[in-house]
Amino acid sequence: MDVAVNLDSIQKQIRQACARSNRNLEEITIIGVTKYVTIERTEEALQAGVTNFGENRLDGFLTKYNHFQDRAKWHFIGTLQSRKVKEVIDKVDMIHSLDRMSLAKEINKRASDVMDCFVQVNVSGEETKHGLKTEEVLAFMEEVSKYEKVRVVGLMTMAPQIEDESRLREIFRSLARLRDEVRNQNFSHAPCEFLSMGMSNDFSIAVEEGATHIRIGSSLVGE
Ligand SMILES: *Cc1c(COP(=O)(O)O)cnc(C)c1O
Repeated sequence: MDVAVNLDSIQKQIRQACARSNRNLEEITIIGVTKYVTIERTEEALQAGVTNFGENRLDGFLTKYNHFQDRAKWHFIGTLQSRKVKEVIDKVDMIHSLDRMSLAKEINKRASDVMDCFVQVNVSGEETKHGLKTEEVLAFMEEVSKYEKVRVVGLMTMAPQIEDESRLREIFRSLARLRDEVRNQNFSHAPCEFLSMGMSNDFSIAVEEGATHIRIGSSLVGE
């Protein structure tokens, strides 16, 4: 399917989710996840109007970045090894996977400017998922203030691959509540306004529950 056709359908679903939850469409950024697809398919997405792209691995990211450079905004959405930070740091707009203090330290060391990061939270508690536990998040926010080049702009989570809508909703709602809690602390280094949540199978629910950045791969560009 053409990316433009898929994008239309996704935008329509986002509009409907916004209408159901009284939200503004403008608050939501679609991140096209291009990890499965070629440069050509990514080009098609760019032509269709997708301007934010996400990659979860260093090699895939560099291939796309070297080709497109600043024609798009880049998001690093996968687990990031500390030794690879220097290769992504001044190329990405946002890192969605800050999940440990040692990574914050490395980002701080390598960044030439303030780096916008999402703190990844393992809300569902699945063992295979990366991220802080919910109860660790506030202490992390306090401690990370010592790294002046790390700005926490929001929280990110990956929901499990399940059909159970009410469980998914509960996970997204928990992340939104946690975001509110952090935001209410008024940390200058952690405004924590955003919620990076929702993928191909669950983005409508995520939008209803407050997502500001949805990361969509397979249903937008294919697998
Ligand atoms: C692959 C991936 C996505 C997109 O997944 P789809 O189900 O294909 O939309 C989103 N977020 C992360 C972190 C991913 O690794």
